[in-house]
Amino acid sequence: MDNKKLYDGIRDKIMIKSIPAKQILQKVKFDNSRWFGIDYNMNLYRGCPHGCIYCDSRSAVYNIENFDQVRYKENVIETLKKELRSKRKKGVVGIGAMSDTYNPFEKDLCITQQALNLISENHFGVSIDTKSSLVVRDIPILKEITRNNSAIVKVTITTANDELAKKIEPNVSLSSERFEAVKQLNDAGIFCGILLTPLIPFLTDNENEIRAIVEKAHKANAKFIYCMYGMTMRNGQREFFYKHLKNISPKLVFQYQKTYGLNYVCPSLNGKRCEQVLKKECARYGILTEMKDIIEAYKKSDMQLKFF
Ligand code: SF4
Repeated sequence: MDNKKLYDGIRDKIMIKSIPAKQILQKVKFDNSRWFGIDYNMNLYRGCPHGCIYCDSRSAVYNIENFDQVRYKENVIETLKKELRSKRKKGVVGIGAMSDTYNPFEKDLCITQQALNLISENHFGVSIDTKSSLVVRDIPILKEITRNNSAIVKVTITTANDELAKKIEPNVSLSSERFEAVKQLNDAGIFCGILLTPLIPFLTDNENEIRAIVEKAHKANAKFIYCMYGMTMRNGQREFFYKHLKNISPKLVFQYQKTYGLNYVCPSLNGKRCEQVLKKECARYGILTEMKDIIEAYKKSDMQLKFF
């Protein structure tokens, strides 16, 4: 299904509201060698309508009421403009950690697009997480960003199977459309790869799935596949996950309860094997899998930035 049809189908069902914007840009608490080299984080929207059954952001701990409803932040662009100008370090800004910044409303509101323009004008870098093929709309701005800083796009793909994707990520681009987006981004010279998170225990943590993802990633010229071998599970998230997992297989809910109880971290029992297969297959095609290598490959060094 193309984006237009998909978005037109859910647009009317999900209300959008505005909320006051306080601070947009946040300095990350960890050092920038840990998560794709980001220095700042920002979420331009609150809530996400994509409906992924395993979504960690809907956990009660984050306190986002009506998670499926999208809220945009008032004066977000003016606030961001001031904040970018006030920062001394021209670091990489991560977008999309808590909600997909390419939600159905972005197509008309263009808040992400305006934010990317500001990032470009102020010579910052960007690291985008998304499951939506709408990201290809912003290829020209991403190319502009790479003139003065670094840009990376991580397209989350958890299964190579479109039928399964429809069940576990019902309101966003199909996996095949996401692979196509990865190809378009890479063909345009944007450093783009796949975030294989989560690897869903008993559902996607098998060799066939891993091999299929690597094969399609290779065809899409993906530069990396970064995988986390399991998933998280917290209050709020767990109930939603089980409710939808039951429709896929009631037996699986029982298996989860028996294996993980109320654990927060739920590692794949087949994780070691999946990791071996992923690394071996990726090595065959020159696809990176280690965080350090991915950061080194996409990020311009401080020397290069000084030169710019
Ligand atoms: S796209 Fe991300 S934030 Fe949105 S529902 Fe899916 S996992 Fe959650």
